[in-house]
Amino acid sequence: TQELHIVGGGMAGSEAAWQAAEMGVPVVVHEMRPHVGTFAHQTGNLAEMVCSNSFRSDDDERNAVGLLHWEMRAANGLLMAMAEAHRLPAGGALAVDREAFAAAVTARLRAHPLVRVEPGEITALPEDGHWIIATGPLTSGTLAEAIRAETGAESLAFFDAIAPIVYAESVDMSVAWMQSRYDKGETVEEQTAYMNCPMTKAQYEAFIDALLAAEKTEFREGETAGYFDGCLPIEVMAERGRETLRFGPMKPVGLTNAHDPQVKPYAVVQLRRDNKLGTLYNIVGFQTKMKYGAQTTVFKMIPGLQDASFARLGGIHRNTFLNSPTLLDDRMRLRSRPHIRFAGQVTGVEGYVESAAMGLLAGRMAAAEILGRDLPPPPADTATGALITHITGGAEAKTFQPMNVNFGLFPPIDAKGGRRGRKDRYKAYTDRAKEAFSQWLADQS
Ligand code: FAD
Repeated sequence: TQELHIVGGGMAGSEAAWQAAEMGVPVVVHEMRPHVGTFAHQTGNLAEMVCSNSFRSDDDERNAVGLLHWEMRAANGLLMAMAEAHRLPAGGALAVDREAFAAAVTARLRAHPLVRVEPGEITALPEDGHWIIATGPLTSGTLAEAIRAETGAESLAFFDAIAPIVYAESVDMSVAWMQSRYDKGETVEEQTAYMNCPMTKAQYEAFIDALLAAEKTEFREGETAGYFDGCLPIEVMAERGRETLRFGPMKPVGLTNAHDPQVKPYAVVQLRRDNKLGTLYNIVGFQTKMKYGAQTTVFKMIPGLQDASFARLGGIHRNTFLNSPTLLDDRMRLRSRPHIRFAGQVTGVEGYVESAAMGLLAGRMAAAEILGRDLPPPPADTATGALITHITGGAEAKTFQPMNVNFGLFPPIDAKGGRRGRKDRYKAYTDRAKEAFSQWLADQS
């Protein structure tokens, strides 16, 4: 059987290696640590957790991350098994002893008869063979340049600048309204591209005060020398002048308040549709370094967002990631060089769990291909399927930013029927997902 080469033995690469080896395919894991380091990794272990020691919620009935745990467990996931073995008490979260966890993943992979770990940095894109690149948010510079040369500078980012994303259903449409600036756009899709939240002068002034006072996080050392073009955090814009935002992302021009056409808003916060399903909207231009707690408080001051629920909060980080919606096919292959797959955070998912899940999928898909089979992605109503569907097609390519798993990525339940309580609805999502994921697994055996 031909070998599968995996670049990067992090969350995604480790899970991919395990999955492929368990399917009977020999695997070589190329890991540059400890010889070449990153600013965040501390050890030479595979699957090192670089920051928190938590895999987040383990509630597989009402939480999308917990559901991803369930799916990985059902699929013989190595990372979930080792997490369970080194679990620490943490309420509903799956927290682990990070040293013991990474050591156990490393030992299990090294002991697998079909896995070989080869130390060293890969610096160029391979010309042939079967490859998965899972080099993560801190992909080494030389390899990143090689990827960039292949994909074009526009398609590989070195930072994410994430504006907060809200669930569309949680926006109060008796205050907000749908309209594109200067009424551009003819199709329904274009006409629902933006939601607008109006502010009076007093609301704007109070909002600026709150932004200036909010607690911020600092960049880590080595993370960046400064802000980069076009991605100033809103609080930095506000520091430059109280009117800066009103002449920037919050400018009120070309918009008419559908609820009160006579009164011109002093400022407008725009939300832009973030996925084709129309379940998620991001707040335009609102990338921020405010702490999470401060973000929810400050953003709920925006009229229409007083009861908003956030699918993810904003942030700016060092992060190497591809514009997957344009570059990858639904088998996670680079369209221009299909012998190369990508997995993990570099594909534009974010988080340990999400990265591991994309590794699981890439490992299985690559192994299937080597074995002469084709493995379709899991259906979009599973957590793994919702993520892969989002990054390879569901997300808006132009504004693509890394994504956590959340129920806004799932095809909605109850589109027609009455509104169930949110908790019941989440249970309906996870029930549906478990059935579909089990079927996807059964189809492979
Ligand atoms: P990684 O786990 O980083 O694995 C990539 C591997 O590839 C590394 O081992 C690296 O050494 C290796 N590598 C890179 N380039 C090469 C090369 N050219 N040749 C060979 N090997 C190479 N997520 C959370 O859920 N919780 C957190 O608290 C959290 N904190 C984070 C903090 C920081 C500073 C960063 C940067 C990210 C954080 N993340 C966090 C996000 C992310 O989920 C993790 O980084 C996760 O480890 C990503 O998994 P991965 O497999 O894609 O990449």
